[in-house]
Amino acid sequence: MNFSLTEEQKILQDNARRFAINEMLPSIREYEEQRKVNHDLTKKMGELGMLGVHIPEQYGGAGYDYTAAALIWEQLSYVSWSQTLTALGHSVLAATILNMGASDKQKQKYLPPLCRGESIIAVGAVEPAAGSDAGAIETKAELVGDKWIINGTKNFITTGSIADTTLVLCQTDKSMGWRGIALIAVDADTPGFSKEPINMIGDLAGDICNLSFLDCSVPKENLINEIGRGLNVALHGIDSARLFIAAGALGMAQCCLDSCIKFAKERSQFGKPIGSFQMIQDTIASLAAELMAVRWQVYYAADLKSKDLPHAKELSAAKILASDLAIKASEQAIRVHGAYGCTDDYPVARHYRDAILTAILGGTKEMHKLTIGRELLNLNART
Ligand SMILES: Cc1cc2nc3c(=O)[nH]c(=O)nc-3n(C[C@H](O)[C@H](O)[C@H](O)COP(=O)(O)OP(=O)(O)OC[C@H]3O[C@@H](n4cnc5c(N)ncnc54)[C@H](O)[C@@H]3O)c2cc1C
Repeated sequence: MNFSLTEEQKILQDNARRFAINEMLPSIREYEEQRKVNHDLTKKMGELGMLGVHIPEQYGGAGYDYTAAALIWEQLSYVSWSQTLTALGHSVLAATILNMGASDKQKQKYLPPLCRGESIIAVGAVEPAAGSDAGAIETKAELVGDKWIINGTKNFITTGSIADTTLVLCQTDKSMGWRGIALIAVDADTPGFSKEPINMIGDLAGDICNLSFLDCSVPKENLINEIGRGLNVALHGIDSARLFIAAGALGMAQCCLDSCIKFAKERSQFGKPIGSFQMIQDTIASLAAELMAVRWQVYYAADLKSKDLPHAKELSAAKILASDLAIKASEQAIRVHGAYGCTDDYPVARHYRDAILTAILGGTKEMHKLTIGRELLNLNART
C-alpha cells in the first residue's frame, strides 16, 4: 500500500492546477455570462499533452495511467468541472471507446488529431426513451449497399454542436436486443444531421445538445468494432467517464472548502472572524474530513482501473461519494459565504450549479447502487 504520489504525479498535478488558474480562471466568468464555449482551451490542452492522458503514445496520447489522469482532471475541475468537461471530456469518453474498440486504421484516423486538440468527438448514447436503460435505444441503422442509413434522436450530448464527429449508438435489428447494437461514426457535415442546443442548470460555458438523424448516410466502414459490440465498447468509455466525474467532483469540493476557509478568516460579524465561531468550524472540519476519505476512494478506484483489476463497485462507490460530496460542499459553502456565496464573485455558486450534473451523467446514484448491489449479492436488480 502506497499513499504517496510519485514525483511525476506531483508535477502533473501542479501543471494542471497552474493551467486551471492561469488559463481557465481569468475568463470563466465571461464565458459563463455569455454562455459561450472557450474553444482555445482544447487547443491549449492538446499542445500541453492534457488530452488523451491515458491514451497510448502511438496514437498521440501521453501514455499515463488512470491515476495520473484523475489527478489532472481533479485539478482542472477546481476552477470549473463543466468547462473541463467541455474542453476535454471527449478525450475521456470518445478516446477511450476508440482506443478500446476501433480498428488500427480508425485509431490512426481519429485519435492523434483528438489528442492534439484539433478535433472533437462526441458520443451519442442516450435517447428520449433510453437513459439509464441504454440497451433500449431505438436509433435505427440500416445497411443499404455500402452505406449505413441512420434515423433517430439522441439527448443531452456533451459537445454535440461543436464536435467534428459523433459516435452514435444505433440499433441494427431490434429483435436482437443488445446483440443488434452498433456504434457508428457520423461526421458533423452529414446531410440530415441536426443539433439543438439545450440550456442546463449549470455547464454555463458548455455545449449540451439534442441530436437528430434523418436518413443520414455514412460509409459502411464507419462502424466501430462489430455489430453486437456497440454497447460493450461504449460502456468502456463510460467507465472512464465515471472516473473523470468522480475526480472532477473532488476538485469542486476542494475549491469550495478552500473558499470557505479563506472567507471565514476574512469575514467578520459580531466583532470576530466568522471562522472563530464553532458552528462554522464544524462545517469546515466536517467537509475536510469527508474530502480526505472520499479522495482516497477515488484514487483507489483509479489505481485498480490503472492496473486493469476489477473495479466496478469501487468506482461506483467513488462516483456516488464524490458527487454527493461536491453537491454538499457547494451547498454548505454558499451558506458559509452568506449572500456573497449566491453571487458569481466567489467560485462556490459555479460549483453549486455544476455539482448536481455529476449526479446524473455517467450513471445516476441509483444505477451505481445497483452495480454495487449486483457485485455484493450476485443478483441483477435491473433485469
Ligand atoms: C451534463 C450531462 C452531460 C451528458 N452527456 C451525455 C453524453 O455526452 N452522451 C450521452 O449519451 N448522454 C449524456 N448525458 C445523458 C446521461 O447519460 C443520462 O442523463 C443518464 O444516463 C440518465 O438518464 P436519464 O436522464 O434519461 O434518466 P432516467 O434513466 O430516466 O432516470 C430517471 C430517474 O429514475 C431512476 N431510475 C432509472 N432506472 C432505475 C432503476 N432500475 N432502479 C432505480 N431507479 C432507477 C434514475 O436513477 C433517475 O433517478 C448527459 C447528461 C448530463 C446531465
